[in-house]
Amino acid sequence: MAKKALLGVKKLAQDKYGVELKFNTTVSKVDRNSATTTSGVTFNANHVVVAAGAYSAELFDDNPTAKRLEVEYYSFKDTSGLPAGIIELSDSGMEYYGVLDGPNLDHFKMGDFSQRNFKNMLDYFKRRMPSKLDSICHTHPCYFTMVDTGEFQYKTGNNGVHYAYGFNGTGFKFMPLHGKIVYDGLIKKTDEKYIPLRFRAKL
Ligand SMILES: Cc1cc2nc3c(=O)[nH]c(=O)nc-3n(C[C@H](O)[C@H](O)[C@H](O)COP(=O)(O)OP(=O)(O)OC[C@H]3O[C@@H](n4cnc5c(N)ncnc54)[C@H](O)[C@@H]3O)c2cc1C
Repeated sequence: MAKKALLGVKKLAQDKYGVELKFNTTVSKVDRNSATTTSGVTFNANHVVVAAGAYSAELFDDNPTAKRLEVEYYSFKDTSGLPAGIIELSDSGMEYYGVLDGPNLDHFKMGDFSQRNFKNMLDYFKRRMPSKLDSICHTHPCYFTMVDTGEFQYKTGNNGVHYAYGFNGTGFKFMPLHGKIVYDGLIKKTDEKYIPLRFRAKL
């Protein structure tokens, strides 16, 4: 479903708005009106918006307020006896989260919503699902930007570059709204509705 949604957005951007997408192209420098790639190509524009997900703050923001959370997911190939989803909140404040996964929902992935710690997670599996330990087939990381306030971050930096990040693991479902907030709020500066005052552009 997520893949279909992304392909739909991509097609709309290309067909309706003539967007040119560049894949496998790393930007190493930005300023108010340009972005330069590691291969030395510079793109000029009226506005530059950085929405580099979990990398935004550390790469391009001169005043980072978001931190990268690196969650590790563990994939089990044996789903027998497991429900479609698990959420467990422990007394010590851990949040464990697991769902059926894969194109045919024939795997189960599970992790805890905190900075990755293999030992803690394997201890949890040993304690709570010992019969599944042998069926872990791979692990994969998942990066989020987290902001202490829990608010999304939209701002214009001192360098005039616009930033949108800090979606606290919920950025996907709000994606069209993020785009509208950036355009109305930061670029056109007409937003009166979407952005809390303290996150509005400072320029
Ligand atoms: C496993 C997982 C499950 C999730 N589930 C949900 C969910 O159910 N619902 C939900 O709402 N959200 C979910 N999220 C969070 C959601 O995916 C993010 O909040 C959202 O993708 C953030 O969007 P973004 O555009 O800010 O960043 P991203 O989608 O991370 O896009 C940033 C892009 O910038 C690129 N980039 C980074 N640095 C550079 C550079 N130097 N030069 C060029 N390009 C660069 C990256 O390659 C990437 O393509 C999930 C995330 C993960 C990992």
